[in-house]
Amino acid sequence: MSDLCKGLGLTQLELALPPLLDAARQQQWTYEVFLDHALQAEVQGRQERARQRRLRAAKLPGNKTLAGFEFGFQPTLNERLIWELADGNFITTATNVVLLGPPGVGKTHLACALSAQAVASGASALFTTLSQFVEDLGHAPHPSLWRQRLRRYVTPRVLVLDEIGYTRLTTEQAHFVFELVTARYEKGAMVLTSNTSFAEWGTLLGNEVLATALLDRLLHHAEVITINGPSYRMKDRASPNKLAD
Ligand code: ADP
Ligand code: MG
Repeated sequence: MSDLCKGLGLTQLELALPPLLDAARQQQWTYEVFLDHALQAEVQGRQERARQRRLRAAKLPGNKTLAGFEFGFQPTLNERLIWELADGNFITTATNVVLLGPPGVGKTHLACALSAQAVASGASALFTTLSQFVEDLGHAPHPSLWRQRLRRYVTPRVLVLDEIGYTRLTTEQAHFVFELVTARYEKGAMVLTSNTSFAEWGTLLGNEVLATALLDRLLHHAEVITINGPSYRMKDRASPNKLAD
């Protein structure tokens, strides 16, 4: 039977079969119940493997969840809004989520948790930082191939662009970011995190006109969440019983 499963590519069923056969004998399952359990085992196994594949492809740093986020620590953050976003509606409507705030308030944590939730509900995701993204495009095997490489960042249903900071981009790098935002506009959701207010994005991109056009697209369908609060990292430092990370 194991060979037949292999031959048919039913790898999950092959694994599940011995305990299922035991249970069927012990509990005297009908043929229907047994077949139902057997098919469920294959389907659920495939779904779980697909989720794990998507999770690996998403390259999320760490294993952050919304359940692991202490909302009590950030009273200015609208908890209900975050849980609504976790429903995944922002993915289907290609709405961007922009998390703004100083270091340590949980921007990256929330971006990762929302992505993990998206992956669990069947969507593809990819996590990158602004600097990783512009470097990757700048290092295309041939300068003319950057557009081909851009596709990596356009195809995932959810793209996290983390750490949009103060570092001034070159003209070419600013162009890459603009092309990314344009390519995903009304097609795919992005989750962006930044410690820089929008007013400073002109400086960041080295071009006010480009920044205005970029923000226009980015914020047309967007949920902007500003977190004004203490750094969670400092909380850890302040506690004498905990080791600083
Ligand atoms: P930011 O991206 O805003 O600089 P991070 O998301 O990297 O901050 O958070 C720093 C660390 O603190 C991470 O390990 C994160 O998981 C943790 N953290 C931040 N805020 C919270 C919170 N409210 N509840 C639980 N952990 C938090
Ligand atoms: Mg961060």
